[in-house]
Amino acid sequence: MRRIFLGFACNNGCVFCAQAGLRAAWKRDDGGRDVAAIEASIDALTDLAPGETVAFVGGEPTVHDELPRWISRAIERGASRVLVQTNGRRLAYAKYAEELAATTAGKSATLALDVSLQGSSREMHEHATRAPGSFAQTVLGLRHARGASIAAAVTTVITRANYRHLADIVRLAHASGASAIRFVPVEDVRPSAASGPPLAPPEAMMAPRLAAARDVARELKIALLNGDLAAGEGRFAGASVTVVPP
Ligand code: SF4
Repeated sequence: MRRIFLGFACNNGCVFCAQAGLRAAWKRDDGGRDVAAIEASIDALTDLAPGETVAFVGGEPTVHDELPRWISRAIERGASRVLVQTNGRRLAYAKYAEELAATTAGKSATLALDVSLQGSSREMHEHATRAPGSFAQTVLGLRHARGASIAAAVTTVITRANYRHLADIVRLAHASGASAIRFVPVEDVRPSAASGPPLAPPEAMMAPRLAAARDVARELKIALLNGDLAAGEGRFAGASVTVVPP
């Protein structure tokens, strides 16, 4: 898996975002975007193995208008699979979902999304993202991905705000078209979360909720993923998904 890093810019402001401090440190509206470096890292993909995946990660990859072009460029360089880590909000525009899907039209390459969904309700999701309107856009984005035949997994960071509702999040992910779901402990995302209000639920209280969510996932036949998709761990969309360092 090769990972293409697009900078820290994001239209969400998640309470647990590991990049929040980095984004502020750049003190730039573009979140450290460097188009020349991004395109050079794509052009450097000259030694991809058959079946290898290229992952676009941020920040939020879809805030860059060039993303469809960059995906096409990675496919031209030989990427068999492309994974985009996204909050899915831009896919609320059906035309954008179609534009992403078009990058693989007539090609043997496949495109998959790893979509950040942090709650089963607007209040829960937007408590995490601190972005009004983000819940409706992410859920609609998942539906548009399904409509455009783009495989999507959901990633949910387990916090005190959502741990009681993990089973409902599985149901929503499934109803919205995701084919897989991954739960990540908040301390894995932001180990420094100790320096603020506690974000992690007590382990003993979380465990039964997680077990119930896994039961629902099995019942609905939505795949449960382990590991970091964008680090090459876990399996999704029929392949081991791996992303490349910049
Ligand atoms: S969507 Fe991802 S990159 Fe954006 S603020 Fe949330 S955790 Fe950070």
